[in-house]
Amino acid sequence: MEDIISLCKRRGFIFQGSAVYDGLAGTWDWGPLGVELKRRVMDLWWNFWVDKRPEVYGVDAAIIMNPKVWQASGHVATFADPLVEDTVNHRRYRADHLLKDKGIEAEGLTNEEITKLIREHDIKSPDGNPLSDVRSFNMMFKTTVGPVDTAEAVAYLRPETAQGIFTNYRNVVDTLYPNLPFGLAQQGKAFRNEISPRDFIFRSREFEQMEIEYFVRPEEWDKEFTMLLGLIHEFLEQVIGLPADKIHEYEVPENDRAHYSKRTIDIEFDYPIGREELMGLAYRTDFDLQNIQRVAKKSMEYRPKDGSAPFVPHVIEPSFGVERLIMAILSAFYQTDEVGGSKRNVLRLPHQLAPVMATVSPLLKNKPELVKKAQEVYAMLNDAMPGRVNWDDSGNIGKRYRKADEIGVPHCVVIDFDSLENDDVTVRDRDTTEQQRVKISELAEKLK
Ligand code: ATP
Repeated sequence: MEDIISLCKRRGFIFQGSAVYDGLAGTWDWGPLGVELKRRVMDLWWNFWVDKRPEVYGVDAAIIMNPKVWQASGHVATFADPLVEDTVNHRRYRADHLLKDKGIEAEGLTNEEITKLIREHDIKSPDGNPLSDVRSFNMMFKTTVGPVDTAEAVAYLRPETAQGIFTNYRNVVDTLYPNLPFGLAQQGKAFRNEISPRDFIFRSREFEQMEIEYFVRPEEWDKEFTMLLGLIHEFLEQVIGLPADKIHEYEVPENDRAHYSKRTIDIEFDYPIGREELMGLAYRTDFDLQNIQRVAKKSMEYRPKDGSAPFVPHVIEPSFGVERLIMAILSAFYQTDEVGGSKRNVLRLPHQLAPVMATVSPLLKNKPELVKKAQEVYAMLNDAMPGRVNWDDSGNIGKRYRKADEIGVPHCVVIDFDSLENDDVTVRDRDTTEQQRVKISELAEKLK
């Protein structure tokens, strides 16, 4: 974990948010390489779940919504984590995390039950002080809308993207009238005032979700649940390329499930911090649409085209977190191996994820004829693969290779004296470190 955090900072993937002002806990900024990696992951997701599926459509809803959304959804009442306070210095902690750190599971227990466990096991705060009783802490960020700071003006930053989809269900049915089953997909920021953000980007206060609400006939939920579970594995293992043996299904027992779910399978991943939730697949029944129907007093019924009786569809939700997916990618592919007797760090990113496909450099940067030729090759490749090629003439060639390996560049293109004679270049492969001569005229096609 330390290695990954250090890589991200050193090479410009991910920085602590507001770092110049000593940071803001639970927030992270994406640097030049990180932003490219994140875009690729999000684009691959959109391509797989939306572009390639005729029955799935995209939406992009506002982050700040009418607060009635969160009253109807149950978030105002129940979207809370168990909080305890150090009775001496008043630092606050997530009670279940303190217990988990001591090997005691507290998921799904009431506040009273967790308090009892804390007393029984004599759990103290990390500073060694006694802890308060457990109480619930609502995780939604509050803000006010408009110029008057009154209770009526209170609104929330969305804690999940899902509600922005449910509130658009009626709009989409009225405008597109899709057949069932159909899906609505959304990518975007979500905000949770986590009591103790930790484990790098794994638990942040601002993060990005990619969610699909899949609307089905109530009697078909089981079949569609299984279908979506299969697609999740295909996406994670074939499209992203994560190792299947690090991916596990966890059938969430009833008392641990979110308030709206009748069945949930968490997809867990073997992270450096242990086996933890990467994403979830939840059967949300008609909970959300019924709530909207009740509170907004508008029909959420779907009228089948065959004239049969209208009904409120049920919903199955694959919910991905971008940060947790990227943490899985970094931890699966960042490795240390040995080349020619010396240790190297290498990020073996599958090519579809690599922020940079190739670097181009002159073997020696003080030879104008090499630099000129290399610049021609760079311009040509940049035309063929805009944004996927980097120029690098820093340090010596060994250093350039080490840097390219560490940021996951699959190919290094080097222009040397033979290139001037033969119009070819050396292409070094990141994974095997083997070098190949390739004709400049064939280079773009080969790299693509
Ligand atoms: P956890 O139990 O780990 O807090 P959760 O079960 O509350 O997560 P969901 O509400 O199911 O999470 O959210 C869906 C997905 O959003 C999660 O699987 C995860 O990928 C992502 N996610 C949730 N909370 C965070 C967070 N604080 N930081 C980063 N990603 C998150």
